[in-house]
Amino acid sequence: MRVVVKVGTSTLAYPTGCLNIRHVELLVKTLSDLKNAGNEIVLVSSGAIGMGIGRLSLDGRPQDMPTKQAAASVGQCELMYTYDRLFGEYNHVVGQILLTGSDFSHAARKENFENTILRLIELGAIPVVNENDTIATDEISVGDNDTLAAMVACSVRADLLVLLSDIDGLYTKDPHKNPDAKLIPLVRELTPQIRELAEGKGSGLGTGGMITKLNAAQIAMQQGVDMVIANGARPRKLYNIVEGEAVGTRFIGKESGE
Ligand code: GLU
Repeated sequence: MRVVVKVGTSTLAYPTGCLNIRHVELLVKTLSDLKNAGNEIVLVSSGAIGMGIGRLSLDGRPQDMPTKQAAASVGQCELMYTYDRLFGEYNHVVGQILLTGSDFSHAARKENFENTILRLIELGAIPVVNENDTIATDEISVGDNDTLAAMVACSVRADLLVLLSDIDGLYTKDPHKNPDAKLIPLVRELTPQIRELAEGKGSGLGTGGMITKLNAAQIAMQQGVDMVIANGARPRKLYNIVEGEAVGTRFIGKESGE
């Protein structure tokens, strides 16, 4: 199976901006093992800005663009250093790909990116993708990595997209505010009622939230790619997800199963 896994800042870093070693080590170990089992893995990783905040000892998420971009520049190095080292322990090779929204609307650049990522996969490497935050301003950026991951999943014609977040999946109500909220295990269609369930932005150092995850679902489902939202605090669940077991919320891609 070709699997694109997106991991959010809330999984990778503590609210301090320091690396969550337990989560990252478990994630890398599980992905390495899934790859050893014959799956092809693409990792879309957030955390550049979050980790830059930690490394530069900034006071929370910067509001101005140059500081955000400077934080991303520093944090992206730490991210890739960490992945290179940890995947290296399992004999896997990583390759960095940084993209902006405009790369997808520019035919030649899109083709170049697709050729590179597909070649990396063929060569047995694990592409690690992020937005090129140091040059992406609001006008040209994808803006959030949920959407970016869906675009990448469609580009590489993935079998499955997994968004790892700080929440177990899509709930009938905001579970942070409503203890009686229930997890929705399966979504076959993004009805207006489903869309209404997504409230506001995620918390902490990250960018996404349920709205961006449903946007990602729309992109993936349209192209026939299944998508799962699951909790990044339990990376071992990826084994079950790849096996098709019910974990988190699964959105069924259009053509699949029909
Ligand atoms: N590209 C951003 C970063 O690496 C994250 C965007 C997102 O979390 O959606 O910090």
